Amino acid sequence: MTVLDKLTSKEAIALEDKHGAHNYHPLPVVLSRGEGVHVWDAEGKQYYDFLSAYSAVNQGHCHPKIVDAMTHQAKTLSLTSRAFHNDMLGKYEKFATELFGFDKLLPMNTGAEAVETALKIARKWAYEVKGIPENKADIIVCENNFHGRTTTIISFSNDAVARKNFGPYTKGFIKIEYDNLQALQETLESSNNIAAFLVEPIQGEAGVFVPSEGYLAAAKKMCADHNVLFIADEVQTGIARTGRLLATCGNCTCPEKNCSGTPEVKADILILGKALSGGAYPVSAVLANDAIMNVIGPGNHGSTFGGNPIAAAVAIAALEVVADEKLAINADKLGVIFREELSEFCKNNHLVESVRGKGLLNAILINDSEDSSTAWDICMKLRDNGLLAKPTHGNIIRFAPPLVMTEEQLRECIAIITNTITEFSK
Ligand SMILES: *Cc1c(COP(=O)(O)O)cnc(C)c1O
Repeated sequence: MTVLDKLTSKEAIALEDKHGAHNYHPLPVVLSRGEGVHVWDAEGKQYYDFLSAYSAVNQGHCHPKIVDAMTHQAKTLSLTSRAFHNDMLGKYEKFATELFGFDKLLPMNTGAEAVETALKIARKWAYEVKGIPENKADIIVCENNFHGRTTTIISFSNDAVARKNFGPYTKGFIKIEYDNLQALQETLESSNNIAAFLVEPIQGEAGVFVPSEGYLAAAKKMCADHNVLFIADEVQTGIARTGRLLATCGNCTCPEKNCSGTPEVKADILILGKALSGGAYPVSAVLANDAIMNVIGPGNHGSTFGGNPIAAAVAIAALEVVADEKLAINADKLGVIFREELSEFCKNNHLVESVRGKGLLNAILINDSEDSSTAWDICMKLRDNGLLAKPTHGNIIRFAPPLVMTEEQLRECIAIITNTITEFSK
């Protein structure tokens, strides 16, 4: 077997099963090609991608502008480490900080690494600027959060499967209910040793929970009043997914809905990943202003691959695509249509309880218990009918197609979804 040998789907799955760790339970489909909103399996069957690699492929599969930037840079200079400068990183940092409205950016690779980075920055700031006594800085997090899979991050998760038998856990986190301002207020008032509040603007993995109108802005203000940093994890919600450049832009409608302008909520620390590269390459980042980011000095934090020239070139291209193709506006518009059509469908279908979301980050709630296989079975039928989605938390199906979708394609997909569920309900 060589890398160029074509495998059947069955063969590919068998190889993973035998030689790969079983840390995922994928829907049984083997993808071998992607372009725009479509992917094709090993046998050549075409599908609409309604997961977009957990919102990493917002710009569509194999976007030519991003692929060109990547291949050009790969042939020129791929990695120097940060032991030396490279001539792409500064360009990217200038571009991204101006776009998102922060003084500085710290480049990493995966979302979890960027979250870890934000936590480290917040704690260092708490000791050196805020003046919290050594080793006492707590960070407030929300129940049902998802911030990644490292030991510290699972320490404050309440997903039993993600946590069990990985202890001892990292201390210093206080968990409160999501979308509960009173809980936040009480916790902020209960201690002088709080460094930061870490929050997802919409809880994606938990099942696309959109907080109440005004929650984020009020939470930000409470944090500011207590000199506590507001950390927005926009790894999944950022980069136009929710119909704004950032979900924390709220209802801000800057020209093109694609600038930092005066967002509804300006995070003190912003965490980005996933679609920052359009899914071409692992690129994540933490952004903050000087008063916070300057606590980090040489040797405090780093990554061999973080800020490499390919990542820098890819991220610039990926962000340019979002602006050039007005993807935030498109996500906003198509999201309204999607929820309108699906809500209408819910009224007459007993299997789908409700639809919720923002922009093109949406989910339907299946009217069955969390441990039922109904959502999974529906996803299998959707697959057979040419659309790929995956259940999250048992009875919730997330729908998050690439943002380059046209209205015509979306309407075709809505028909696939509603026909499949109607067929299934019989
Ligand atoms: C996916 C995700 C992460 C983790 O990103 P990885 O690249 O998988 O490490 C962190 N936070 C949120 C909100 C995410 O959706």
